[in-house]
Amino acid sequence: MTQRKRIILQPEYLKNFHCIGSDCEDSCCIGWRVDLDKKTYLAYKKLNQPELRLTIEKMVNRKHNDKSNACYGKIKMDRNGKCPFLNKENLCKIYIFAGEEYLSNTCTFYPRDVKKIDGAFERSATPSCPEIVRLGILSLEGISFEQVEENAEETIQIHGTFDTQGHLFLNKPQRFFWEIRMFSLCLLQNRDYSLAERLVILGIVYKKIEVIQLEGRVRDIPLMLETMNSMIEAGNFKSELAKIPIESEVQMQVAKTIANHKFSLGISSKRYMECLKETFQGIGFVETDDIEQVKDKYDRNYQEFLRPYLKEKEHILENYLVNEFFKEMMPFGSYQSIWDSYIFLCLLYAMIKFHMIGMAGYHKELNDELVIKIIQSFTKVVLHNNQYIQQIIKLLKDSGYDTLAYMSILVKN
Ligand code: SF4
Repeated sequence: MTQRKRIILQPEYLKNFHCIGSDCEDSCCIGWRVDLDKKTYLAYKKLNQPELRLTIEKMVNRKHNDKSNACYGKIKMDRNGKCPFLNKENLCKIYIFAGEEYLSNTCTFYPRDVKKIDGAFERSATPSCPEIVRLGILSLEGISFEQVEENAEETIQIHGTFDTQGHLFLNKPQRFFWEIRMFSLCLLQNRDYSLAERLVILGIVYKKIEVIQLEGRVRDIPLMLETMNSMIEAGNFKSELAKIPIESEVQMQVAKTIANHKFSLGISSKRYMECLKETFQGIGFVETDDIEQVKDKYDRNYQEFLRPYLKEKEHILENYLVNEFFKEMMPFGSYQSIWDSYIFLCLLYAMIKFHMIGMAGYHKELNDELVIKIIQSFTKVVLHNNQYIQQIIKLLKDSGYDTLAYMSILVKN
């Protein structure tokens, strides 16, 4: 009998991914909640394995506030935020004593994530795993995508679906998801422009889409994108982009407000906590409240450390944004509007840059190891919390920082 096949679109780097287990500098089994699908929950409760019995009784609980089969139960973390099934060598006791087939979907599929768009499968990965940062985000060539074929009988867990032709999206920009996505990804990877310039142009285009939508002309979107593409190729934006002022104080204040907000909500990742402390110390926020002094230090760190680093390695920030854009079905996905997704993309760029500037000041250098730590721990704390993402978008809107002008200032150094 011939095997049924499934085609999946995914970043090329994913085919080289393997979990590095106890060699990992963090652990995906520390610092967040592990949900259990119904099948796994029931299998645990029936499991008669002396090494696991007590922990299952005490730490595997039903999730009564969630009616879905995907989040039927949960593993309660210990007081240090660690999964109680981790042994002293940071290896999983479920895997050791019960076998791989007893791992929950969450544990099996992390750091991968599958979505289904217009019936087609897409797989992506989260850089909250350091190995994904090394393989995908650090890659000089940039992220490219490929279609892979796999056995359709293999289990996959779908984290989101999107039907761009659904009746809800009649006369909405979502109808042109594929065109908008292709345009955006090409622009984000266009190295004829600096990444900050690419983000500003993206903002200009998304504002145009909003206007077109308000005027009820969404069918004009493909033509508008074509025109913008020609203008990008001809370099027509260059002189306007050069006029955007550099205001590092605004960048610093926005990033600090967001980091403080996260701090006040609690941070369970020790690695991110270290990054945050070093960032604040590195720009002098700890010693003084004098904003002029802090700004001076921020600017000096940028010139001395981040600028030379990005001159060689701006592709790291590009890859980070491209990866997130693809993974979250931007500019739509779970965002309330195309503009909200844009605000968030600029914030991601600004926040990673803020941490790089601060930590470079603290360590008196910036290198790939520090960058891996920043990107991985920041992603783990921020991007796995949709509620927090919505809160910071609102925070920015409430303080009036959500305009194209402010977004341009936020990204330009
Ligand atoms: S059950 Fe095993 S793989 Fe899953 S979080 Fe716990 S230790 Fe990690």
